[in-house]
Amino acid sequence: MPPLPDEQVERALAIVAHPDDAEFWAGGSIAHWAAAGIAVTYCVLTDGNNGGFDPAIPRTDIPAIRRAEQRAAAAILGVTQIRFLGLAESGIRPASRDLHAGLARIIREVRPQRVLTWSPQWNWQRFRSCHPDHLATGAAALAAIYPDAGNPFALPELAAQGLPAKLFRAPADPTRLAILLTLQAG
Ligand SMILES: [Zn+2]
Repeated sequence: MPPLPDEQVERALAIVAHPDDAEFWAGGSIAHWAAAGIAVTYCVLTDGNNGGFDPAIPRTDIPAIRRAEQRAAAAILGVTQIRFLGLAESGIRPASRDLHAGLARIIREVRPQRVLTWSPQWNWQRFRSCHPDHLATGAAALAAIYPDAGNPFALPELAAQGLPAKLFRAPADPTRLAILLTLQAG
């Protein structure tokens, strides 16, 4: 299934694990999309609370610092919509119902024609890209995309809150949704 050409995409959603993934691994693509008029939204699952380099900085300050850095970096690329889920780094569990429902909710709210996320598969040629959070993010994102983001009988609490599933189809319908796994493919 080829991805939709940029001119047919109005909204894109990048689902990533850490508040620097999008820029490190797909910054050029995201900047290109935003410049082409595509409204790009980030969904950042963790606050990267295990990151940083300076032991003098209180660890409790790290999440706020990394969110601020993420907002600033996204703005440079032309991205202003960011959803922070606030999970603990190395704590992503793709089987979590809360995470599953949360991602399905965001997909239904954003209604992206293009989703960019991590591959859930190990890549021995790009080992450093295979942080467990990355793999778990990809697995959770794909599971949310199909089938539940587009199944009106799944997660009925979302439909009850005005977030029906009728705008979505299975990924096999290229006019509705294209999944790009380019974070690991290049
Ligand atoms: Zn990462």
